[in-house]
Amino acid sequence: MAVIKLLEYPYPYKGWFVLSNDPDHTTKDRWDSLHAFLWEELELPVSDSLFIESFNKNIPEQVNLKDSGESILKHYYDTLHTWGDFVASEVVFDRKRIVESAGLLRKYKIKPLVWIDHSSFSGNLIMNNGKGANPYLNDAAGFRYENRDYSLDIVNELGIRYIWDGNVTDSMKIKPYIAGANFRNIISEKVFVFTKKILSKFLKWSLNRDENTELNRFVLKEKEFEQGIRMYLFRRCGSWRYAHIDGVPEHINKKTLNKIVKNESVYVFYTHLGKREAARNNENVHIPDKTKDAFLLLKKYYDEKIIYISPLSQLFDYVVLKSKISIEGTIIRFKADGVRYNNLTLDDVRNHKFSFAYNGKLKTEQISVFVENKEIKDYRLIKEKPGVFTIEFYSNGSENN
Ligand SMILES: [Zn+2]
Repeated sequence: MAVIKLLEYPYPYKGWFVLSNDPDHTTKDRWDSLHAFLWEELELPVSDSLFIESFNKNIPEQVNLKDSGESILKHYYDTLHTWGDFVASEVVFDRKRIVESAGLLRKYKIKPLVWIDHSSFSGNLIMNNGKGANPYLNDAAGFRYENRDYSLDIVNELGIRYIWDGNVTDSMKIKPYIAGANFRNIISEKVFVFTKKILSKFLKWSLNRDENTELNRFVLKEKEFEQGIRMYLFRRCGSWRYAHIDGVPEHINKKTLNKIVKNESVYVFYTHLGKREAARNNENVHIPDKTKDAFLLLKKYYDEKIIYISPLSQLFDYVVLKSKISIEGTIIRFKADGVRYNNLTLDDVRNHKFSFAYNGKLKTEQISVFVENKEIKDYRLIKEKPGVFTIEFYSNGSENN
């Protein structure tokens, strides 16, 4: 009787890297040079985020959906950088603007799954006290006011399920798990909480101020907002200091990439590729050679199938789906998590692949795959090597490829 075990990553990858780019300071010229190098020349699946509108007087040429339209839609966006850049502007943000913004997203068929707060924006969901997630504001005398900057309900209706927690970590220990989501996580989380308790007795500062320390170790953590809206939080890796095009080699280098492989980690890289170090702001060349070399190195790990690269949403959906896979004998079952997916269907697993190890004798014909309670056949079973197989779900209508 064969025992089947789920692997952390699709075979043969040893880690997962996401280039999570915020659009701050990106002018059209810079956008063009980034698109030409990263998307067209290197064909790296970057996770780009979008300003719907931009009124920032400090950066008047910043690309955004409303002004730039089709010209910046030559590649894929899975992330909203809030409802736009209202920082350093006279334009007041309120709920009325969102109806128009949601219309623009529909017009261009953009379906973001990820939300990233921006600077000191009053509609941020987490940063600066997360005012945008509270429908009401209370004052010290006990008055309760309707909050005109509230938009979490509309963010939820758009389908967004993953929210940046506003922090950056240099920790490399995160694996493709959700904090507390399965038996293995609960055990290690208990050990972690215990260690933290002991430590904080001795080190009375800082440790308790971060309510999401689990995000230094896990990719996602569930959060329930007021009014019962549930989302996942994530944290990014890197540093505030080097989060621009000139700082890329500080984080994308042999040391980081080898560490990802050694620890079998997930690395969600925090950056603003359209931003430069101030001293270099007026130069002609946007991407310096050192940064190009760093991207070429990353591409090498990707081409050699050592580190997988994808947009944020693909990683997060993988982590969520993976957390609910159960194996009973030769039956592999996928189930909904209740936050990202309420009722899992075949369409939700399409374009994903999962690898499994097994020992003992196994005839692959014995394997059956269920999505919820329905057996499905729309997948390829790939025998990778003795003892390892992959289940790859077809994309819609591509079973004859
Ligand atoms: Zn920003």
